[in-house]
Formats: sequence, C-alpha cells, structure tokens
Amino acid sequence: MRANYKKTAIILGLSVILIGGVGTIFAKKINNNVSINAQAQENKKEEEKIVNYVGTNEEGKKYTYDAKKVADKLAKYDYSNDGKKVVFLTFDDGTSKTNTPEILRILDENNVKATFFLTGSNIENGGEKAKELIKEEFDKGHAIANHGYSHDCKKLYPGRYLDIDAFKEDFKKNEELIKSVLGDNFSTRVLRCPGGYMSWKGMEPLDKYLDENKLVSIDWNALNADAEGPRKNAQQLADYAIKTAQGKEMVVMLMHDTYGKEETVKALPTIIKYFKDNGYEFRTLA
Ligand SMILES: [Zn+2]
Repeated sequence: MRANYKKTAIILGLSVILIGGVGTIFAKKINNNVSINAQAQENKKEEEKIVNYVGTNEEGKKYTYDAKKVADKLAKYDYSNDGKKVVFLTFDDGTSKTNTPEILRILDENNVKATFFLTGSNIENGGEKAKELIKEEFDKGHAIANHGYSHDCKKLYPGRYLDIDAFKEDFKKNEELIKSVLGDNFSTRVLRCPGGYMSWKGMEPLDKYLDENKLVSIDWNALNADAEGPRKNAQQLADYAIKTAQGKEMVVMLMHDTYGKEETVKALPTIIKYFKDNGYEFRTLA
C-alpha cells in the first residue's frame, strides 16, 4: 500500500514535470513566433523604405545598379565586378542651362544613361529652365541624386570637420527642392558629399545618419579632372578620364555639367566611345 502510494506520487511528480516542460516549450514557441512576426514586420518596413527610394523613372529602373554595393566596394578600393565591366557616368553640380542640355543630347545620341548629382543653389539660379532640365533628366531614365543645396564646404565642414546638422539641413533643403520639381513621390537614397566623402574629417555622425536612413554616400574612382588642377581642353579631359579608368572593371566616373564645363561636353563622346569599345555596360546609381 505504502509502496503503491509512493509509485503514484512519483508518477504524478513526473507528469507535472513533463507537462510543465511541454508548457514551457509551447510558451517559448509562442514567444518565438511573436518575435519572428515582429521581426518580419520590421523587415517589411525596412524594405518599403528602400523601395520608396527610386531616383529614376520606370524606364530608368532597367539601368540602375545597387549604389550601396558600389559604394562599399569603392570604400575598400575593390574595383572588380566578377569579370563584368560596368561604368557609371556621373555629373555633379548641375543643372546648368548651357552644358546640361548638350550632355543630355550626347547621352541620347549614344543611348547611354548617367547619374546626375544635383546642386540646389545652381538649380534655383537657373530658374524655370533648370527645373525643366531636371524633368528631362528624369523623363529620359537617368538617375537623380542629391549633392546638397549650397555646395558651401566652409559651412558643411568648418575647419575641415563635418557639421552634421548643417549637412543634414543642406541636403534636406535640396531634397525638398527636387521634390518640388519632380513631385512628392520622388526620392533618392544616393548622395555625394561636396568635395567627396574622402576629403573630410569627423565623418562618423554622417555614417550613423546614412545608416539610420538607408542612404548611400558615393564618391568616385575615376575622373576627367574638369574641376581640379589646371584648365584642360577636351582631349586632355578625355585622356585623364581614360587613364584613371584603366584596369578597373567597375568605374564611377566623376565629371561636371555645371557652368564653365564646356570642354567636358566636348570630351564626352570620346569618353563614351572608350567605354563602349572596351566592352563596358553603362549603368546608373540608385
Ligand atoms: Zn560638387
């Protein structure tokens, strides 16, 4: 009798432990599911945020390339691309009433797309015509990116150190201006720091800001040098562009379509021809 009682007690005890264990497992599973769902929702929100950044029109989407991937490679000085040659023609500081239309015409003639890093103050100085040119860039399937409003390096990086609040305000102002032309649905995640990210100190707050807002800052790994050193003629600009691109599978070419860059316009057909002859695909950053 006593032994039986003991047995029953042991069985009961084991059952409680077993049920308790199964209960805990179930509770954990439910908890896991809840956190998995929360994570999925979080991911979806992140995706939507990225999808909302377009930077180009429907036609232009065929030519875009993941700007984040390109920027990460550039940061590591890795210009390989699995054997596939790709070039990103980029034009900074526009638009200008004189040179932008010519550049658009040459790109059209050659059936290639480019990325325009717009500077707000130049757009406003150019009035309605400059705004029409942004629309034309967009309508033709080129990519639009943010180069800030003022291009005032003393304001953005006083003493060569980043002023993150000034930077954010300046880029926001330009974004608003571009939206006022292309519509509220327009947004781009791609930006280029005036003077280049690589040129300034104390950039950590910008890294954080970019990360939090899924933005991408991109410099370049080749240039026609139309904004530095002595003034060059078209042939010299083309030579410089080709020299700095040579041996690179992935080329981000820095040029300018602002005022005074007439020689860049003249050099552009030669530069495009070089990349075509050497088997490069022309893509845009978005
Ligand atoms: Zn610039």
